[in-house]
Amino acid sequence: MGISSLIDKTNASSTAIELQLLQKLFKNVPGVVYQFQLFDDGTFCFPHVSNGAVSLFGYTTEEIMMDASKIFSKIHPGDRESFYRARKVSQKELLNINIDIRLVSDGNNIKWINVNSTPERLSDSMIWHGYIHEITEEKEKELLLLESEGRYRNIIESSLNGFVIGKDAVVLDANDAAIRMFGYESLEDMQLATREGLLDHDDPRLMELRRIRAIAGKVNGEVTGIKKDGERFNCFMSSTQIQEPDGTFQSMNFFIDLSERTKAEERLAKSQQLLSQAEAIAHIGSSEVDYKTGKFLWSDEFYRIHGLEPNCYEPTPEISERFLHPEEKYKVEIFNEAPLKKLDFLEFDSKIIRADGVVREVSSSWKLIYDADGCPLKMYGVVQDITEKKQLEVALKLSEEQFRGAFEYSAMGIAIADSFKGWIFINDSLCNMLGYSREELLKLSFQKVTHPDDLELGLKYLIELEEGRRDFYKIEKRYLHKDGSIIWVMVIVSMIKNKDGKPHQFVAQVENISQREEQDRVLEELNEQLAIRAQELLDSNKELERFAYVASHDLQEPLRMVASFLQLLEKKYGHQLDDKAKEYIGYAAGGAKRMKELILDMLEYSRVSSVAIQYENVDLNRIVGDVQLNLLPILENATIIASGLPTVSGIRSQLSQLLQNLIGNALKYKSTERNAIVEITAIEKQKEWEISVMDNGIGIDAQHFEKIFVIFQRLHNKNDYSGTGIGLAICKKIVEKHGGRIWVESEADKGSSFIFTIPK
Ligand code: ADP
Repeated sequence: MGISSLIDKTNASSTAIELQLLQKLFKNVPGVVYQFQLFDDGTFCFPHVSNGAVSLFGYTTEEIMMDASKIFSKIHPGDRESFYRARKVSQKELLNINIDIRLVSDGNNIKWINVNSTPERLSDSMIWHGYIHEITEEKEKELLLLESEGRYRNIIESSLNGFVIGKDAVVLDANDAAIRMFGYESLEDMQLATREGLLDHDDPRLMELRRIRAIAGKVNGEVTGIKKDGERFNCFMSSTQIQEPDGTFQSMNFFIDLSERTKAEERLAKSQQLLSQAEAIAHIGSSEVDYKTGKFLWSDEFYRIHGLEPNCYEPTPEISERFLHPEEKYKVEIFNEAPLKKLDFLEFDSKIIRADGVVREVSSSWKLIYDADGCPLKMYGVVQDITEKKQLEVALKLSEEQFRGAFEYSAMGIAIADSFKGWIFINDSLCNMLGYSREELLKLSFQKVTHPDDLELGLKYLIELEEGRRDFYKIEKRYLHKDGSIIWVMVIVSMIKNKDGKPHQFVAQVENISQREEQDRVLEELNEQLAIRAQELLDSNKELERFAYVASHDLQEPLRMVASFLQLLEKKYGHQLDDKAKEYIGYAAGGAKRMKELILDMLEYSRVSSVAIQYENVDLNRIVGDVQLNLLPILENATIIASGLPTVSGIRSQLSQLLQNLIGNALKYKSTERNAIVEITAIEKQKEWEISVMDNGIGIDAQHFEKIFVIFQRLHNKNDYSGTGIGLAICKKIVEKHGGRIWVESEADKGSSFIFTIPK
């Protein structure tokens, strides 16, 4: 309740008593209760001041009432203006004054006071009823608070980490770092977004953090931030939830942008992955020894080289020693001594026994790092599986040795020459061939040992070889032996190209063909003689055939005479002759008949060659049909089967005779135990037809397979089987005339197959 109203309520008579009472009351009030009166003429006074003024202003109440200005002189110069302004406003607007100002005391001590007074308009003046109390302590605290607040705000503002205060999904405040981090222009811009829009709520990590925060009040962890443009980024969030006096919650959130870290981590992981891929591709493992910590580090490939799954063991010197081949254990010493000997590099190959028991060869190179005092810090190493490389080296060495062996001991002369430097390598054979020692020959050139007339030979090919237009050339030429004699050689020259495919060196293989030349010459002579003989033979053959033809033809006439006179003799004088004479005449007539057959067959035989060659398409099926008709008289119970015979190119009459002879024989030499079956078949070969005449007759013993094709050769007596022994000889002649072959396959008592070929 205002003091003025308290006074108003007193009536005039009791004023003095009540004032006294009030005086007593106010005496114990810690501040100053007062009335201040400002007259319209500008004068002023304190009609009333309580005792508290003594300790606050250092004046008695009487002193103040006597000289009111004393009080105002105590006001801190810096606050005077604001105080008078407040009083003016209060006077004009009749508003309460409530102001904190400073007082300066004698010792220049500063006291803070709060002046709180209510104006009242009187007829000639304004009167303020007020209360002043000291607030130095509160003010100092407040200032401290402000100061610390300011300090924190500075820290937050200048921080690189984001700070966001939020309440009910609204951003209340945020520092510049947060605004930048989330991609906004300003705090206002950021406030347009809800606080929810700053974080990805689909990220389960956020859900979890919120759950924990609801229980613990605060939480730290990684979440996914969302920038204004929607880009997601990984950030660390430290969030505290504070309950306001009204029960609502505010959250204070610190954010650290981890996207750079994430990117760096991704880059690191990627480069590590690349490294291990590169290591795997190159089969190079890496290792690191930290002398300070005694720790070993192995790359994935290092494990694999040892036949281990990556990271299956914590790497230790003992484990790597365990894989060392027993023969190589001494290398552990070399390894251990390297830092003691202050080596910078260390390289060695060693054999290891992999986890699967396979022995492999590895090469390792190590680099040692020392500190300023020369103490070893680290050793970095690369280890490579070189088993295949080593095997290749061995194979290469072997092949080189083999090549050298082949080169050195070859029966052929071999020389390798350079277009500019001349001969580089010459083998013994070439030296021996030319009669020089290796040293002598190396000083000479191809030209020097080549016969002057053959120098131009092969020059054209050599140019083509150099221009890459041919791979090699082969010529026969003459070399000059050291003793001046001529050696005929066959030279094969090829080109060795260098890495760039350019002609580099020539390889000449030289064969001494002097002897072969001689042999060739002799062979040529022999060939010539042979040709002459062959011609002579041909001529004599023709003559023979002609003779056989003429003889057999001319023999027919006297034979006919012998036969007819024998008939006459028998006819005219038969009755006078005794039985013996008749029997003799019978023999003579049989001989004449047989001779006639022989002559006819011989005629036939000689005709085969003399018939003019007139090839035509001959259908063998038809031929067999005709033959069957011809042989009808002797067919009896025989069966002839012919199927799928081809049409071939040949001389019809001869092919007909050929088949007639073969089928005729098949019927003639039939078994007495079974009916004859003759089967004629054909097989088509790539270049010829193979025709077979197969019977189930008496068969032929293998020893006679050749003989039966020779003229007059028979296996049987004429009384058992009639014949002249010319039939198969004619067959052979006909087949050969057609360019084919004829042979027999047979088994005695089972049957025979006469097979002949006719070219297509
Ligand atoms: P020829 O039949 O007139 O005696 P070939 O020259 O035709 O004369 O035959 C020579 C011989 O071959 C015959 O005497 C016979 O012994 C034997 N020969 C030929 N064909 C057959 C056959 N199909 N089966 C068994 N023997 C055969």
